[in-house]
Amino acid sequence: MRCRKCSAKAIIRLPRHNTAFCPPCFSEYVTDQVQRAIKGDRMFGHAEGVAVAVSGGKDSLVLWEILSRLGYRTLGLHIDLGIGEYSRISQRKVEVFASARNLPFVVHSLRENHGAGITEIAEGVHRPPCSACGVIKRYNMNVIALQHGMPVLATGHNLDDEASRLLGNVLHWQDDYLDKQSPVLPNSHPKLVRKVKPLYRLAEREIAAWAVLQKIDYIVDECPNSVGSKMFVYKDALNRLEDAAPGTKHQFYFQFLDRQKARAQVSPIEPDLRECVSCGQPSTAEICSYCKLVGTLQREAEPALKVLK
Ligand code: SF4
Ligand code: ZN
Repeated sequence: MRCRKCSAKAIIRLPRHNTAFCPPCFSEYVTDQVQRAIKGDRMFGHAEGVAVAVSGGKDSLVLWEILSRLGYRTLGLHIDLGIGEYSRISQRKVEVFASARNLPFVVHSLRENHGAGITEIAEGVHRPPCSACGVIKRYNMNVIALQHGMPVLATGHNLDDEASRLLGNVLHWQDDYLDKQSPVLPNSHPKLVRKVKPLYRLAEREIAAWAVLQKIDYIVDECPNSVGSKMFVYKDALNRLEDAAPGTKHQFYFQFLDRQKARAQVSPIEPDLRECVSCGQPSTAEICSYCKLVGTLQREAEPALKVLK
């Protein structure tokens, strides 16, 4: 197998593009796809600071690496979920990565702020861990990014993540979520960051291959709370379709984006936001989801959590 660009020995085949690359040409392809996303979707410019949500997994560390190589001013944001060994190793990967490259980062620890990890918090508020985790991460990432003067928050969602999420939203016709599923979510309030997904043009296996080529040391294990997640089922289904017909994932997601852009031009989606009466952060309700969750935790769960400690 030869590289389609320079004829050197290829190390990766990309059936969806009907091509194959050697290491340098593959590296160039990956960086080009990220640049194309940033510029083509007007995600951010070099004058803006970009907070990068870093879990310690391959996607977020690859994203951070590429953005810093492209010369963007970045700040890593890591949420320590307090899930035993998994969280300890995740944070260590972020620390080692950042210190080897002299990159700044901030850690927000759930145990320090709430006295418990995400699993106990979720039990305390009677919610599935991923639902509580989503609320806590979204809220804190936004607040911390803005506190540090970063108007943009970049996450490592890739093409597989977006296509499987789209499949889940379509299967359940979750119109609200479909409206929000875009690689760029503009800040619809001065207290909100612009959320961007610069890896959305790259498949998971391309990112994993690039991480290995660049010797990026990331946590391979998935979060223990993801066991049994429907997302794995959707990803698996899409991988089978992709094997049978390369390009399926790309077409599915990109054609959705084309339709979404056309729809937004006819009737732009403007969220109806006010400020939470408790914390002052933007919210669609009188009290934001985060304050509701923290309120329930304080009322119902804290006595129990004290016993757990
Ligand atoms: Fe949070 Fe883990 Fe669920 Fe992901 S899988 S949302 S990190 S609890
Ligand atoms: Zn609030």
